Amino acid sequence: MIVVVGAGLAGLSTAYHLNRPYWICERDLEAGGLCRSYEVKGFTFDMTGHLLHFRQAEIKTLVEGLLEGKLERHVRRSFIYSHRTYTEYPFQVNTYGLPPEVVRDCLLGFIATLAKTQAGPPQNQSFKAWILDNLGEGIAKHFMVPFNEKLWQVPLDELTSDWVSWLIPKPEVKDVINGALGIKDKAFGYNPTFLYPKRGGIDALPKAFLPRVPDIQYGTELVELDTQRRRATVRTGQNGSQVLEYEQLVSTIPIPELIRRCTDLPKDIREAAEGLRCVSVYSVNLGVARERVTDMHWIYFPEPDYPFYRAGFPMNFSPGLGPAGCSSLYVEISHQPTEIMAKDDVLERVRAGLERADIFRAKDEIIAAEVRDIRYAYVLFDRHRARVLPAILLELERRGIHSIGRYGRWEHTSMEDAIGQGKKLAEQLNGQALVHPRSAASVLGRAGANP
Ligand SMILES: Cc1cc2nc3c(=O)[nH]c(=O)nc-3n(C[C@H](O)[C@H](O)[C@H](O)COP(=O)(O)OP(=O)(O)OC[C@H]3O[C@@H](n4cnc5c(N)ncnc54)[C@H](O)[C@@H]3O)c2cc1C
Repeated sequence: MIVVVGAGLAGLSTAYHLNRPYWICERDLEAGGLCRSYEVKGFTFDMTGHLLHFRQAEIKTLVEGLLEGKLERHVRRSFIYSHRTYTEYPFQVNTYGLPPEVVRDCLLGFIATLAKTQAGPPQNQSFKAWILDNLGEGIAKHFMVPFNEKLWQVPLDELTSDWVSWLIPKPEVKDVINGALGIKDKAFGYNPTFLYPKRGGIDALPKAFLPRVPDIQYGTELVELDTQRRRATVRTGQNGSQVLEYEQLVSTIPIPELIRRCTDLPKDIREAAEGLRCVSVYSVNLGVARERVTDMHWIYFPEPDYPFYRAGFPMNFSPGLGPAGCSSLYVEISHQPTEIMAKDDVLERVRAGLERADIFRAKDEIIAAEVRDIRYAYVLFDRHRARVLPAILLELERRGIHSIGRYGRWEHTSMEDAIGQGKKLAEQLNGQALVHPRSAASVLGRAGANP
């Protein structure tokens, strides 16, 4: 009687924790969603860098149990490349080594923020105002604004700041000054260490759920929802379709996609969902015939000379992900969902940018190259989202639809959060009485043609 749509981490975790009948479908032919790996010419690539950071002890314990002995802990080696200089991440406490006038701008700007009073609760502040108020003009100018505008593809005063506090903590003045002088006495940021599978890429994580979630209906796409009668139509294969009756439906697909599939929601909800914005990302995976093109784990690129905002080096945290004597890279380029670039152009721009940054040499041979477009990558925390999202989620809940996961809740969250949301929801559903405890979902009918 519970239908779960999507077998990414949120859907897998829901099914894993449910102790009552469920029916789970996945549009693709394998589970994992964004958290997947694939092979090209001897290299194993994730969709793009997917590293495990934990803030919730119970999810860490769960994942460590699922992947017992298969995870390795790494101390982050992440850097920012600007002014042809590498500085350690996070920028605000590591300006040592940048041109003196840049360091001065950053220090004076930060010190000026200490005299300011807080402009109000974060939800009332734009992201740009938050940056200026908390980090100051220098750090804004030399990193935070150009980097984030490259990532989010919109002016930062269009974004809210309610999501930034755990990602970008405001440093203490002592740390900013130490960072400008090159004195290191502690680790910063939400991810000073991370875990990653020793072998096989991040794919190991969704695969670890599968023995307890055996009956996923692959190649099965939710295409229509009659929310009044609680009926879901799914498309199976080329022409087949199936109508399922459910009591509760757990959706982990992007909210706008879900709402478009509902036949009977009020107009204001449908219009509100259409107005939700996100950016897409070209995930560019490369295998190159040279060992250890760098020692770093990943690098941020704030400057417009480089089309990508981040590049990472998977073989530096899991050497088995490629052939001996080679290096692998993931490179991420944000773009508006409607602005599509030819894959060859993407590759050309990436190669040129990596050469400009001295990561690639002109004679480096690229053995493997794969460009994938992640249509829903980063949701925009804009004022429209803040205004309409609670009403959309509430309307869905009223109709027995629980929308969870990164794109189901339309938020900026991690693998840990997707797993945590699935667990929490399953526990909540486990505690509810079943109205029709007969089967996972009643199949009302099958049709030969698409609905
Ligand atoms: C560029 C980038 C980098 C990231 N890096 C990290 C990182 O380093 N660490 C980290 O913790 N997190 C990272 N994340 C976030 C992480 O990928 C997500 O939080 C997590 O994978 C979300 O899982 P999910 O199940 O919510 O969604 P998804 O993985 O999107 O799963 C949704 C599933 O639903 C299926 N589906 C869609 N439509 C339908 C339909 N109509 N019918 C049936 N099935 C359907 C999809 O095929 C998919 O399998 C990153 C994300 C991005 C975009």
